[in-house]
Amino acid sequence: MREALHSIGGSLLSGGAGCLDSLNPAEPTSIVARIPLGAAAEVEKAAEAASAAFGTWRKTAGPARAERLYAWADAIQARAAELAEAIATEVGKPIGEAKGEVGRCVAILRYYAGEAVRPLGEVIPGLASGVLQYSLREPLGVVGLITPWNFPLAIPLWKAAPALAVGNTVVLKPSENSGWCAHLLAETAIAAGLKGEFNVVQGAGEAGAALVNHPDVKAISFTGSDTTGAAISKACAALNKKYQTEMGGKNVAIVLADADLAQAANLVAGGAMRFAGQKCTATSRVIVESSVSGRFLDELRKAIELLPVGSPMEAATAVGPVINEASQAKILGALGQGTVLHSVTAPSSGFFVSPTVVGGVDASHDLAQNELFGPVLTYLEADTLDAALELANNTRFGLSASLCTRDIRSALTYVDRIQAGMVRVNADTTGVDPHAPFGGYKGSSSGTREQGEVAKDFYTQYKTVQINP
Ligand code: ADP
Repeated sequence: MREALHSIGGSLLSGGAGCLDSLNPAEPTSIVARIPLGAAAEVEKAAEAASAAFGTWRKTAGPARAERLYAWADAIQARAAELAEAIATEVGKPIGEAKGEVGRCVAILRYYAGEAVRPLGEVIPGLASGVLQYSLREPLGVVGLITPWNFPLAIPLWKAAPALAVGNTVVLKPSENSGWCAHLLAETAIAAGLKGEFNVVQGAGEAGAALVNHPDVKAISFTGSDTTGAAISKACAALNKKYQTEMGGKNVAIVLADADLAQAANLVAGGAMRFAGQKCTATSRVIVESSVSGRFLDELRKAIELLPVGSPMEAATAVGPVINEASQAKILGALGQGTVLHSVTAPSSGFFVSPTVVGGVDASHDLAQNELFGPVLTYLEADTLDAALELANNTRFGLSASLCTRDIRSALTYVDRIQAGMVRVNADTTGVDPHAPFGGYKGSSSGTREQGEVAKDFYTQYKTVQINP
């Protein structure tokens, strides 16, 4: 059986407090790899390796750091097919989207290689004449990254690449559900010549908590559930450690009566159902202007039927399984609380859930408020744009939103009033450009942004310098 390993100081190592099996969610009798459960001892070794590497890495010139990131992009590109297959088999992402994720990893690394040679700081006029005053933006040191399974390569990289570009070193604690993908990612980093600069400790919550509490880890960047995010924020605040958390969403699409209903239905169906609704930005509520509700629902049913459900390894598949049995059971339990407006047949073996539209619930219902992370769309109606916006904002989350309309005034009203970090018009709620800021309003994030140039804000601290010659 394949064994995922920790990556510490450029060496792949086993060890830890036991192990678990990472299963193929489409065929759960097939084990993808055995994942070691790293504990405090592995975190200690990784933090030591990252601390030792920091002294040299922070002094490495920007162009040389950029070369390492370009080399990492090349190493990923060279194994693109194998990496996409690992994503498809370990987390059930349809192979077309898995290939897209690998392509995005290459783009992220190349983008941040460029950022490694851009200015970090500025000259600021001083009160006293003749004094040179400037700001330096220095790396923090060792940063801890705690990541989920749904983008098992892209999320670790959209955190690690900006962190490394500005001179930090990294300890990554990937999800225990995607340890094999993390193992392969570590191999590509080593192939690119990164050693103690990028370390991986495999494991579950215990390893994550040890990373948060390690005194040499200066900052934590986390993506995952809101309950874990809240615990990490609290722990970091008590330790006066810098942190950022990207958490859940209850992302909304609003469809107005003047929209192209067929186009809107395709956008909503794709946003809700592709990858079985397991993107942080997946559409999980649709609010339809009442006067076109019947017509829109017909279009939506047709659009959902066009999304093939099946094996993630089939090129045509749009909807694969959900990640594990617990997730499947949770989603099926929640579905029982609403009225099923449409449902598509899914395979009976594997952790599949039928793509389903549910209605008959009000805005305060569990199905309209809590993230399910499955191919489930909650259907709501509103009589006006005002009423739709009120419903849309009636959630503790605020990650992504979409409006379908042909009316520019409606679009601008929505952009002004929607409480979400990622705001789209006539586009679905999913998909992010690595060179644009990404993050949520309200309970979806701690308020900082990832990706784009702004990612460097989290991974640097300012030093303001005055020199009186
Ligand atoms: P998901 O539901 O997407 O798996 P989680 O919040 O459970 O989201 O997990 C996201 C990441 O956080 C994973 O890498 C997981 O192992 C880690 N994790 C879980 N619990 C803790 C914890 N108490 N402290 C630190 N990390 C944790």
